[in-house]
Amino acid sequence: MKPFGYLRAASVEEAVRAGAAQPGAKFLGGGTNLVDLMKLGVEEPPLLVDVSGLPLDRIEELPDGGLRIGATVRNSELAAAVAVRERYPVLSQALLSGASGQLRNTATTGGNLVQRTRCTYFQDISKPCNKRAPGTGCPARDGAHRDLAVLGHSAHCVATQPSDLAVALAALDATVHLHGPDGEREVPVTEFHRLPGEHPEQDTVLRPGELITAVRLPPGRPGAHSRYRKARDRASFAFALVSVGAVLEVRGGAVRYAALAFGGLAHRPWRARAAEEVLRGAPATADTFARAADAELAAARPLRENGFKITLARNLAIDALTDLAART
Ligand SMILES: Cc1cc2nc3c(=O)[nH]c(=O)nc-3n(C[C@H](O)[C@H](O)[C@H](O)COP(=O)(O)OP(=O)(O)OC[C@H]3O[C@@H](n4cnc5c(N)ncnc54)[C@H](O)[C@@H]3O)c2cc1C
Ligand code: SF4
Repeated sequence: MKPFGYLRAASVEEAVRAGAAQPGAKFLGGGTNLVDLMKLGVEEPPLLVDVSGLPLDRIEELPDGGLRIGATVRNSELAAAVAVRERYPVLSQALLSGASGQLRNTATTGGNLVQRTRCTYFQDISKPCNKRAPGTGCPARDGAHRDLAVLGHSAHCVATQPSDLAVALAALDATVHLHGPDGEREVPVTEFHRLPGEHPEQDTVLRPGELITAVRLPPGRPGAHSRYRKARDRASFAFALVSVGAVLEVRGGAVRYAALAFGGLAHRPWRARAAEEVLRGAPATADTFARAADAELAAARPLRENGFKITLARNLAIDALTDLAART
């Protein structure tokens, strides 16, 4: 491991100043991803700005009925919060489906959103990888890509974004609050992660020195139900092959509101707008849910080994929506 500097930031302003002043500096949340990658030689930040002690560790009720989740709120605390369990079950379920108890006790909201892909070539510095070393190539495209993307990938990268939390937040229309050297801004979580295009080295729209300070959830829809389904190779301690976050409101047998997001299919949580279009106003039946999933997944471009993800995504979506419809 290369030597690096360490600063425990005392305020958001100090963290942002330090992060912006040193090119390549990284914020340190729980360290459960960043420190692993430093040990592997994948990340070599000259400076770690520790933000875990900042006063961003609260979950607050908002006047509009929404929630503001501080960036250093731990995954376990967020999953267990009564307001989250009762009003945003999809979020609690997504968090509890991820990692392990010990990891969730350490992992932060901000760090979870910015965690990096689990593509094996990315994590192996003896291999080329456009995301880690731009311009070196993408061996996953012709190599081991069973776990990788079927939607939105490019010739330069077929990686997937691994956060379960991000998928639930995408289905909930959450907003990410950022504080950078040029001030504060808000980004919808659906626009926070990028598609790879020609620059897979950029996972998100974060600018140099920009810190996530919070995530805002809009008020839950009265009458809507939500849930998270995740398919993986083993029952715990495993990333999603495919996951789905779903919110559904049914009135008089017809879909009044639907929000659907897939995980494990793309370089970002995949908000399924085409599926939602089919669902809106249609009878809440398995046939409608299948047509909606098909409308979304028609855009999929599977690689040699991962076509199974399309069937898996279809089945998970139908199953989640059928379950939610049955609760109405
Ligand atoms: C064995 C194992 C299994 C796992 N399984 C899952 C799983 O199934 N599902 C899942 O979702 N996750 C899983 N994880 C990943 C885990 O959830 C992440 O490692 C964790 O959420 C990262 O949070 P952290 O606070 O430790 O981030 P860190 O490691 O501290 O940071 C990660 C990245 O975020 C950046 N960062 C941290 N805080 C901020 C901030 N406030 N603003 C801007 N950037 C910031 C850092 O600079 C770094 O680039 C697993 C991890 C392991 C080791
Ligand atoms: S898929 Fe992306 S992360 Fe994986 S080897 Fe290709 S460029 Fe690297």
